Amino acid sequence: MWAPPKHVSRMLAEKHYLGPIDRGAAWVDEFGCIVITSPTSRRLPNQWLELARWCLLGTKNGGSRQWSAFARALRHARPDVTTIVSYSDPQQGHTGALYRACNWWWAPTWLRLRPPPTGNGAWAQGEQQSVKDRWIFPLTPDADRPALLRANDESILRRWPWAEYRKPGGVPFKRWREECARMPDQTQTTDECVWTPDSDGTYETSCDEAFVFTAGGPAENGARYCCYCGKSLKEIVRAE
Ligand SMILES: [Zn+2]
Repeated sequence: MWAPPKHVSRMLAEKHYLGPIDRGAAWVDEFGCIVITSPTSRRLPNQWLELARWCLLGTKNGGSRQWSAFARALRHARPDVTTIVSYSDPQQGHTGALYRACNWWWAPTWLRLRPPPTGNGAWAQGEQQSVKDRWIFPLTPDADRPALLRANDESILRRWPWAEYRKPGGVPFKRWREECARMPDQTQTTDECVWTPDSDGTYETSCDEAFVFTAGGPAENGARYCCYCGKSLKEIVRAE
């Protein structure tokens, strides 16, 4: 049933790593509680809500049972709301399993899909873990959703066309995990971009571009920084 957020403060203080919240509306039942608020991101419209807390007490399948009851009640109470957005913190070990089990769609921001280049606004070493996963739950059709959720990074969408947000389903989370596992460097923030030549003299960069010099390699051409990601260029010298 619906309740003011005050109502679930104690449960959240005891059971949720983010603690209580004093905004929005709460839902509470035998499985735990949910608090929804207006979206914190200013890019998102008013017909969207944010899942600010989801606190389960540990009943088997309680999460999915609670979610279907909650979604039904929300559709009834707020027919104007098209979408619920939520952010999970990989740093807290959250892999979004519950979201996926409840038919949420993964809608990562470009920050999540790849580390930002060094320079202005870059993360310091180790900060990358604070980037969250974004999930959405579609309540009703919303024609604006794909444009709002598309990762804002043309180069990653060129490299990984499947990572473009689409309906239904959003971005395939599992596929992304597999790609990252195959390319461990891509998930780490380092200060260097490694350029590795193949036998034809084409350099593959660790930011996933390719470059051919007219003659010689990075050192002979005085290239000290990667022209794609801006990091210091580290050249791998082929043993001939
Ligand atoms: Zn690079």
